[in-house]
Amino acid sequence: MKPYKVRKSKIDNLGLYAAKDIKNGEKVIQYKGKVITRKEAEENPKYDNDKAIYLFNLNKRYDLDGDFKFNTARLINHSCNPNCEVTGTGLKVWVHAIKNIKKGEEFSYDYGFSFDEDYKNYPCRCRSKNCCGFIIREGSRWRIKNRKSPKQDK
Ligand SMILES: [Zn+2]
Repeated sequence: MKPYKVRKSKIDNLGLYAAKDIKNGEKVIQYKGKVITRKEAEENPKYDNDKAIYLFNLNKRYDLDGDFKFNTARLINHSCNPNCEVTGTGLKVWVHAIKNIKKGEEFSYDYGFSFDEDYKNYPCRCRSKNCCGFIIREGSRWRIKNRKSPKQDK
């Protein structure tokens, strides 16, 4: 049985949800894609002008492009208080639980966006208590807290 299912998400469009209880550290789903060289990633216009949501750095030479329909893991949404993380071993990338997750909860991870001037184009609707209102990696969120907080509280 697959540990996940696809459902409409409260965060954004579709999401992946736990189909059973999942323990901290368990693998949730493989993040599938196409291995490309970093040179390709730099030169191909497909990766320009966009936050590379689906592009994972594997090592010095290779990235993994997960922007394909067959990559179900791409449906996982960003959260400021995520319950998963994405890690690579060799050229394989897996989504792991970083907390115990109950059946029915939505999976999420930190997209790891760096702080740029265009951060306002990437609002976050994760609804977690610590949500900074925008999709930005944890280490850079303090930059947002110095600004006017967006209307997100509920
Ligand atoms: Zn958030």
